[in-house]
Amino acid sequence: MLLHFSPPKPLFSPPNLRRNPPPFPVPPPRSLRIRAIDAAQIFDYETQLKSEYRKSSALKIAVLGFGNFGQFLSKTLIRHGHDLITHSRSDYSSAASSIGARFFHNPHDLCEQHPDVVLLCTSILSTESVLRSFPFQRLRRSTLFVDVLSVKEFPKTLFLKYLPNEFDVLCTHPMFGPESGKHSWSGLPFVYDRVRIGDEDSRRERCERFLKVFESEGCRMVEMSCEEHDKHAAGSQFVTHTMGRVLEKFGVESSPINTKGYETLLDLVENTSSDSFELYYGLFMYNQNALEQLERLDMAFESIKKELFGRLHQVYRKQMFGGGGGEKGKKTEQKLLNNGVSVPMKEESSSSSS
Ligand code: NAP
Repeated sequence: MLLHFSPPKPLFSPPNLRRNPPPFPVPPPRSLRIRAIDAAQIFDYETQLKSEYRKSSALKIAVLGFGNFGQFLSKTLIRHGHDLITHSRSDYSSAASSIGARFFHNPHDLCEQHPDVVLLCTSILSTESVLRSFPFQRLRRSTLFVDVLSVKEFPKTLFLKYLPNEFDVLCTHPMFGPESGKHSWSGLPFVYDRVRIGDEDSRRERCERFLKVFESEGCRMVEMSCEEHDKHAAGSQFVTHTMGRVLEKFGVESSPINTKGYETLLDLVENTSSDSFELYYGLFMYNQNALEQLERLDMAFESIKKELFGRLHQVYRKQMFGGGGGEKGKKTEQKLLNNGVSVPMKEESSSSSS
């Protein structure tokens, strides 16, 4: 729809000085003297047009779960001119009002505001209980339901199970957080799957308007199925979080001779330690590929240890037997490497006989 605005009429019409010039220069009245030529005024046509356009494209977004990540996202959504209403288990009314959002203690009251979009920002572990108790019947039948959970197949399955069929469903994962996206979202990946978006133009446009926030912030928009996301995320995000937590337990500390690589490890610990353990546990529990990745990590660690200890044994044997332990020395070495089990040294004996 095209909006037409006529520029406001001038408040003051000066006399035509060109046709009837006065005999001496007349200064304009003091109150009408131009003091600044480029300041935005409330009656400025361009500003008016811009704010009307913003209002017409603004979405009413209900953020469910106003914790760490919910608040982080809300700030940017508000900056893009959207109207934010929020609800959470805990009372975040002052945090909400400090960023220009409204907080509703009761989810029924939130739903009666008839938001265009409901944005689920609750923990992975609580998803099912939140959905089971949510008063969907008070929302408009065409509501767009969006989530930002760090696992994707799990919420998709629950949405298709619990949400009314008339709702649109968009599953997303902004792959950054309050730490990594502190300064800018430029170049950071945003994964999304339009699971169920109705055919009407208005529904498609609403979904695009929501995605536009991330696109215009410079995110790297990646359209991908929820299943594919989980495969990739287990091998990257879950492993990253695991290494961050292992290093935190290990106790990495800054030193006066930090190398660049070591600085990266310190950054990794800082990035992952600000996330709740519940979030990390959710990545493990609700991504069916995570267990396999954890086992692979464990095996990789064991294999590296074996390689190091294997070489150490060789050096140790050489020192003990002066490098000339002979056949007997080699056999003892093999036995040590195989945790005390004797292995017939086939290759050596066949090569020595040929
Ligand atoms: P989180 O620990 O995963 O979730 C905290 C949020 O869940 C809070 O809003 C909390 O509400 C709510 N919650 C927890 N248990 C609940 C329950 N039983 N019933 C109702 N609400 C419950 O931490 P988060 O970092 O804020 O993450 C929120 C979501 O964003 C998660 O799904 C996560 O996977 C996703 N995400 C996070 C990041 C990140 O970097 N942090 C990045 C991408 C996606 P109250 O505070 O009111 O108790």
